[in-house]
Amino acid sequence: MVLKSMGLPERELIRILSLQGRAMIPVSRPVYQIVCLCKSPIRLPRRSPLGRFVDLGCQYMDTWPATFLCINCGRVSEYSVDSVQDYRVTLTDPSERLPDLWRIDFECAHENCGRMNTIYTSYSAGFPEAAVKSAVFRKLLTLQCSAGHSFEVNERTLRKMEPFEW
Ligand SMILES: [Zn+2]
Ligand SMILES: [Zn+2]
Repeated sequence: MVLKSMGLPERELIRILSLQGRAMIPVSRPVYQIVCLCKSPIRLPRRSPLGRFVDLGCQYMDTWPATFLCINCGRVSEYSVDSVQDYRVTLTDPSERLPDLWRIDFECAHENCGRMNTIYTSYSAGFPEAAVKSAVFRKLLTLQCSAGHSFEVNERTLRKMEPFEW
């Protein structure tokens, strides 16, 4: 690809290729991700409470370590910044959107506890909150708060959901 050798930033390259209508040329793009034991990646969008992940640079927020739900296998695990990998994805269609990252807050239902517990999960781009919520409820039945209480994941313990687009 000639454009590649011009040293253009990835974003610019994607834009130019889309403008030229050459949508089927595969484009490789750097992403930051964590990978579940089941091998499913959870990709970190450019901007979220977890930090800024732009091209080859990243700036972590102090929200780490962070808890992630793998929507593929239902595993909930805590990850430190050391678990973040950089990786290149190849998109055959440059307008393809990478999955949204969702931040979901739950309140522990144990009497008088009230601790807030935040999990992050990845879900196909552009899905409405209701769809993501029912997928999460299907995969995740209980959570454990930082004081060790186990509580049910449902409408009563869910406090807030927020998506972060790529
Ligand atoms: Zn998994
Ligand atoms: Zn608790």
